[in-house]
Amino acid sequence: MTNEIIFYTQLASLVGFIGALFAIYRLLVQQKDGVIQLLKERLTDKDDQIAALKAQTPDVLVSALNDRIKVTQDEIARLKNDGDTHRKEIELKEGELRGIQDKLTTLSDLIRESDLVCPECGDPLVRRHVYTIHGGPDGESEAEVEYVEYQCGLAIDGFGVERSHCRHLTT
Ligand SMILES: [Zn+2]
Repeated sequence: MTNEIIFYTQLASLVGFIGALFAIYRLLVQQKDGVIQLLKERLTDKDDQIAALKAQTPDVLVSALNDRIKVTQDEIARLKNDGDTHRKEIELKEGELRGIQDKLTTLSDLIRESDLVCPECGDPLVRRHVYTIHGGPDGESEAEVEYVEYQCGLAIDGFGVERSHCRHLTT
């Protein structure tokens, strides 16, 4: 009786021990799985890091830098071309402007040299007419004379005789 009790008690404790051992074993297995999972994740991270490091080899870096330099050179070339275009346009426009200014000066000189404007102030001609005068002892000599009058009042008759003065002339 006592021996049986001892036996069952020992058996129960043995079963309990085995159960505990099994639980511990399962726990350890679970932990091992967890550790394996963790290690797998870490390995994946390392693989990614290795891939990233591989991507940063000197060749790749040099290649990337060359690409960047090429892009910059292209941009500089494009800007240079743009600048040249603008400079050419500006030079062209300046040339046109100089041409127009020259033409204007020539035209202005031509007008001043002509009798189309008052030689003193530049007012425009308002009246001009040509008439014939007769001279000579018997009135047989003829001469064509011109009478011009400008807006400022200057009137020149015949052979340069001022009939009225330019009102803009201060002297
Ligand atoms: Zn005048």
